[in-house]
Amino acid sequence: MGEDKPKKPGSGVELSPEHLRGILDSMEDAVFVLDREQRHVKLLGRWVGRFGYVPEQFIGRTAREIFEPEAAMVHEEANARALAGETVLYEWEIQGPQGPARFESLLSPVRNPEGVVVAIVAVGRDITQQKRLEAQLVRTQKMEAVGRLAGGIVHDFGNLLTAITGYGELLLRRLPAGDPLRVEIEEIRRAGARATALVRQLLAFTRKQVLQPRVLDLNAALDEMEATLRHVLGEEVVLVLKKDPGNPRVRADRGQLEQAVLNLSANANDAMPDGGTLTLSTGVEVLDEARAADHDGLAAGPHAVLTIADVGVGMPPEVLERAFEPFFTTKDPAMAAGLGLSAVFGIVKQSGGDIRVESEPGKGTTFRVWFPHVEAASDVVRPAAPAEAPGAPEAAASAAAPSGPGETVLVVDDEPSVRALARRVLELNGYEVLEAGGADEAVALCGSREGPIHLVLTDVVSRRGSGPDLAQRLAEKKPGIRVVYMSGYAPSASQRRWVLGKGVPLVEKPLAPETLSRKVRETLGKKK
Ligand code: ADP
Repeated sequence: MGEDKPKKPGSGVELSPEHLRGILDSMEDAVFVLDREQRHVKLLGRWVGRFGYVPEQFIGRTAREIFEPEAAMVHEEANARALAGETVLYEWEIQGPQGPARFESLLSPVRNPEGVVVAIVAVGRDITQQKRLEAQLVRTQKMEAVGRLAGGIVHDFGNLLTAITGYGELLLRRLPAGDPLRVEIEEIRRAGARATALVRQLLAFTRKQVLQPRVLDLNAALDEMEATLRHVLGEEVVLVLKKDPGNPRVRADRGQLEQAVLNLSANANDAMPDGGTLTLSTGVEVLDEARAADHDGLAAGPHAVLTIADVGVGMPPEVLERAFEPFFTTKDPAMAAGLGLSAVFGIVKQSGGDIRVESEPGKGTTFRVWFPHVEAASDVVRPAAPAEAPGAPEAAASAAAPSGPGETVLVVDDEPSVRALARRVLELNGYEVLEAGGADEAVALCGSREGPIHLVLTDVVSRRGSGPDLAQRLAEKKPGIRVVYMSGYAPSASQRRWVLGKGVPLVEKPLAPETLSRKVRETLGKKK
């Protein structure tokens, strides 16, 4: 080739050796030519310079003379196959300017006119970024698949647990203090409570929780949690709170935020079996466009940042990679379900935030959580104010005074066991109870019933429709009807971010009899 130059109509490109070289040298891909002894004889493309190499490091040398023996072997094997006449595609790794880089090379044998392989031409491409994106996609898909699976069972499990724990509790209330059967029933209730906690974590992971977001002062929230945290942490663990004087404010569901902080702190505690320091700090960080783009789901602007740092055992890369996966645990499976971080992830995402983790084996782990910062100082709820915490003193007091007011409650749920338990609890408290399996049935019942219906108990959202819609339809038939919502579960992704307004009465599923009767009584007691 070369003597009789081909005419290139209109292109103006003469394929002289210089031109060819120029073209090859401006390629992002790396082009190598190797002789039969596997020595590099030519090196083209921009790759070499970009990786900080000079051609002299390659020319005249074999892979074994350039790379570590283990890495060289990968090339040698591929080269040998190409020299035997095969076209070979293989991947290899090299230390790049920003850490390890992954390459894919295509080797083609070069033959002389007699058909004998005299050389190899190799085209190598940097696929580091592509690999990273692929891995990320696989991770996201895995999380979504497990999320769907979990979402499917969590609804049914929640209903079953409502029955198990609810009836257990009712039974306990009916047994006299010294009854020997109490021991067994307490066990059932304890197991039910543990299962309920797991279902809640799963529900948080699936991002199908019904949230009641408030503007919260992060510092105040931490202050409020301090006692609980100290209780969770081992004696040897020192808790340090570093609160940003800028009062970082977020809009979040207080219970969920606490759950997230508690899960992260419990993990930190487990990571420091011999003690150490757990530092919880707050801050405000303004993300510019570039940094926001790097955070899935965040927009540019001010963010409140919560940092949870321990000096514990840390995580090796393979654990770090999978830490947020549901059911992934390195702990004794009898003690740990591997749902803590999955729940944190779900809570943060459902609240419009993002979470990152850095960890180094032997040094410790730092989780950083970003939430959009809320400017308005109004509407700030000091977490200490509302007495909503489960097991709050008035819940105990209410058990002593479940007097029956004789009002009528309509229970709407598609699950008979949930309706039956709610009926039982409410009847024991002296209410008259009506049941409906769905919205249409509820509306029909309201239309045909002469007497009053004072309150409806319904899911915020169910497979068959939205609670607020139902409430509105019922109010047309029975003006002034009150509503208590149950935290159902959002059946589809489009309904994921169910958010209830301030002060809307909500009881969480699985239903706890105590909370249910208190919420119903409070709601009926409120003056309209
Ligand atoms: P679990 O605590 O039940 O194992 P998690 O989802 O909370 O489930 O955590 C998953 C895994 O991530 C843990 O088993 C542990 O290996 C690792 N991990 C989480 N937090 C930390 C931490 N602060 N330090 C070291 N390892 C951690």
